[in-house]
Amino acid sequence: MDQRSYERNFREMSEKNSHKQIVVVGGGAAGCMAAIAACSAGGDVTLIEKNKTVAKKILSTGNGKCNFCHDVIRPGDFHLSEGNEFITSVLKAYPVEKCLDDFRKMGITPLVKDGYVYPYSEQAKSVTEVLTRSLKGVKVITECSVTEIKKDGEKFTVKTSGKEFTADAVIITTGGEAAPVTGSTGDGFKFAKTFGLKMAKPVPALTSLTVKDHPYKKAAGVRIRGTVSILIDGKEAGSDTGQLQITKTGFSGIPVFNVSRFASRALDEGKKVTLRLAFLPELSDADIRNEFETRLSKQIGSVYDAMIGLFPDSFADALLRNAGVDPDKKASDTKAADKLFKASRELTVTVTGTGDMASSQVTCGGVLLSEVNAATMESNKHKGLYLAGEVLDIDGMCGGYNLYFAWASGFIAGSTAVR
Ligand SMILES: Cc1cc2nc3c(=O)[nH]c(=O)nc-3n(C[C@H](O)[C@H](O)[C@H](O)COP(=O)(O)OP(=O)(O)OC[C@H]3O[C@@H](n4cnc5c(N)ncnc54)[C@H](O)[C@@H]3O)c2cc1C
Repeated sequence: MDQRSYERNFREMSEKNSHKQIVVVGGGAAGCMAAIAACSAGGDVTLIEKNKTVAKKILSTGNGKCNFCHDVIRPGDFHLSEGNEFITSVLKAYPVEKCLDDFRKMGITPLVKDGYVYPYSEQAKSVTEVLTRSLKGVKVITECSVTEIKKDGEKFTVKTSGKEFTADAVIITTGGEAAPVTGSTGDGFKFAKTFGLKMAKPVPALTSLTVKDHPYKKAAGVRIRGTVSILIDGKEAGSDTGQLQITKTGFSGIPVFNVSRFASRALDEGKKVTLRLAFLPELSDADIRNEFETRLSKQIGSVYDAMIGLFPDSFADALLRNAGVDPDKKASDTKAADKLFKASRELTVTVTGTGDMASSQVTCGGVLLSEVNAATMESNKHKGLYLAGEVLDIDGMCGGYNLYFAWASGFIAGSTAVR
């Protein structure tokens, strides 16, 4: 269904469905958007959130600035186990332009930096504040944990740590298992299981990697540009370029985050995972060889001195040692150029692990997309049961894609659940 048809349906639905009782379970990004959409389409909406306030996770997104969308989003920006049709349909029903427009209407002026979209205030709390304001008309119940969801005939019963609720439709927006301190402790997966929905095992994504015999341990703390590729049983599964962060146990930074999901899944399946690193990603192989040869032939002191200005100091030292080149040796030996080339462009290390759920930004896995209708987010097996956001088996790269999916799927679920 395209955007225009949605808007037409919206108007018709608001008139028809003013008494339909909708319970939204979980007040994160997807839950708030679902509740707002359902309420403006005429539903009688209750949003239940276990934290003291809604949208707690949003405060920590985008380093406190909330990268809430991306300026251009394509199906390929997501990882999903079951073909691209699902996300293509979502992008059609809730295009980026509509997402930005909805946020503008709520008061958020977008600021675009390298495609990443932030609120112009560059404060994540602006997003939580406008969402909270837009929930006017929704019964928001906080500090209340949903413990069970049951369907008896046409109606749902939602049991909580407090009272019980009856609903014509329930929208599960409990998130995944990443960053459980923000409330997403995998409850939605338990609810989905009780309804017999199939799932892909949740594993951490957008997280760091730990490696065996860390070749750059001494350079921990250094940030340097590079290309990282994940090899699973020797075959490349994913690759990205950008600023890497060297940690005491391995590597972090956006490119590492973006490939970490492949490592997580493969390690969980007992496969061999290797990380290939190539530094100086802007230079061609020929340019790099030339750069090293030129620097070494200048005879300006030690080999280490010859690297000044190309690499951060502790990294240069580790690179030379990894290459088997004595940093203190006089820089007259251009033969070292080949060794340096190999160390800086063809380094591979064994990946031993990833960050845990507590330190990950997103969950890879969740309720299979084949369990829900992409046009409505309704369960194919259980009429009136909807799922949206990270509880579903779809994850995006860094850059605003995950929040976009939460808004989009929440909007679709909320606006169709009132039918
Ligand atoms: C540190 C960090 C930074 C991030 N930065 C970005 C970014 O800049 N851009 C981006 O696109 N994505 C970012 N993400 C990912 C993004 O925040 C999530 O993908 C998105 O918030 C998922 O939304 P959701 O509504 O599905 O789930 P959540 O936001 O996890 O919301 C789920 C809600 O359900 C509630 N809940 C759970 N169980 C129950 C229950 N039983 N009863 C009642 N309530 C319950 C939880 O308390 C929570 O409030 C980041 C994530 C983290 C952790």
